[in-house]
Amino acid sequence: MKQGKPKLINENGRRIDNRLPDELRSIKIDVGILKNADGSAYVEYGNTKVIAAVYGPREVVPRYEELPDRAVIRCRYRMLSFSTSERKSPAPSRREIELSKVIREALEPAILSHQYPRTAIDIFVEVINADGGTRTAGITAAALALADAGIPMLDLVASVAVGKVDGVLVLDINEIEDMYGEADMPVAAMPSLNKITMIQLNGVLTPQEFKQALALAMKGIKQIYELQKEALRKKYVEVGEQIV
Ligand code: ADP
Repeated sequence: MKQGKPKLINENGRRIDNRLPDELRSIKIDVGILKNADGSAYVEYGNTKVIAAVYGPREVVPRYEELPDRAVIRCRYRMLSFSTSERKSPAPSRREIELSKVIREALEPAILSHQYPRTAIDIFVEVINADGGTRTAGITAAALALADAGIPMLDLVASVAVGKVDGVLVLDINEIEDMYGEADMPVAAMPSLNKITMIQLNGVLTPQEFKQALALAMKGIKQIYELQKEALRKKYVEVGEQIV
């Protein structure tokens, strides 16, 4: 056990922020928040707050990155200096470079990139406040920004992490649960197709726990998917009302 580890599950089976094990944090979603981007979204999972912006399909610069048969998808994930409890250096870290790749790969299977050869689709994920689950909130936001940009997709992608804390599997872990827990498993999926596009595991789970964790993640992903669709609908009803 790590030194100074707080109790993560209390005698009533509640978590450090009073949630039940299978409960998501409070989720807020807004689509189309940036005028200058082709598509954008803001997503909150509790205290984790991210913005995603999408530009494209557009001309590829530098030219040599162009692909003859499909769009090149590029992604940049960053955490703002003030997004963490201790100031984060603004220089791109190895973690940010890795997460940029992870987020891109979680979204790529959903994007019909063959419809736009020789173009670029650029995805930016900016973490404004970090409290665990920034990659998962980032994927959820980026999928909405892609949809808002009108980019054809097989399905939206939604994402959440399951963790194991004090021996209990819990949905949507926050930073303390991530720091002191035994395992952290972020999952992304195309919910209506039931297809997983990302799964990572940090820590140890038994095969039985892994199955349960995956089922819990898919349950959370489906709940988030409903909120994504609701947010898209809200934006387009508002736009429709302005046109009428
Ligand atoms: P994720 O944000 O997807 O859960 P990690 O597991 O790498 O990714 O990070 C867990 C949490 O740890 C982050 O959400 C953030 O709250 C915190 N964190 C990550 N990197 C830093 C950093 N450089 N400085 C301070 N806190 C950080």
